[in-house]
Amino acid sequence: MEDSKKSKRALKVLVLRWGHRPQRDARLTTHVALTARALGASGIILSDVEDKKIKETVEKVSNDWGRLFFFEMGRPWKTIVKNWKAKGRITVHLTAYGENIQTSDVLQRIKKTGKDILILVGSQKVPKEFFSKTFSDFNVAIGNQPHSECASLAVFLDRLFEGKALEKTFENARLKIIPQKRGKKIVKKPIFHKEI
Ligand code: SAM
Repeated sequence: MEDSKKSKRALKVLVLRWGHRPQRDARLTTHVALTARALGASGIILSDVEDKKIKETVEKVSNDWGRLFFFEMGRPWKTIVKNWKAKGRITVHLTAYGENIQTSDVLQRIKKTGKDILILVGSQKVPKEFFSKTFSDFNVAIGNQPHSECASLAVFLDRLFEGKALEKTFENARLKIIPQKRGKKIVKKPIFHKEI
């Protein structure tokens, strides 16, 4: 397919969060999910474990602030990745050890595929297999310093969508923030039905 045709289709991007420890990572995993939602991903998969509280929190945010956001949990990460790739879609593993997003052409190569993307982020140290071709089509570093899954996801999504996710109004919102120089202004339903 020509590049021009590929770029017309909106990319579907999901995030796989690996290694969630319910006691320890609840807050950070919630932030990963909210970052994914706010910066343009279509949903998040919490692999290998279940954490109903996080699901509820994320659903509540989507109910109030709009946007249908997919949430799945519990399936083993290898099964999720294999099924995803079996349908001709790609995976991008975010890791400090990968190709630097700023100094390499990795983002161009990812965009050129025109394919839907499953972004893999860890929490604790990920198994070696994450780096292999079997599971990750691209290993991408948001700079080659270790930092955070939340920060790396935000930068990656922002660059992938070229900042456009930040302009969007979310459909079916009950609440909407009206930006102010100072103070807070929120308006309530039934004003917003369409994602622009
Ligand atoms: N000690 C862990 C290790 O060696 O993998 C650090 C894990 S880090 C706290 C959690 C996740 O953040 C990583 O699995 C990766 O997805 C993401 N991450 C951290 N720094 C990153 C970077 N510079 N670029 C891309 N992703 C990064």
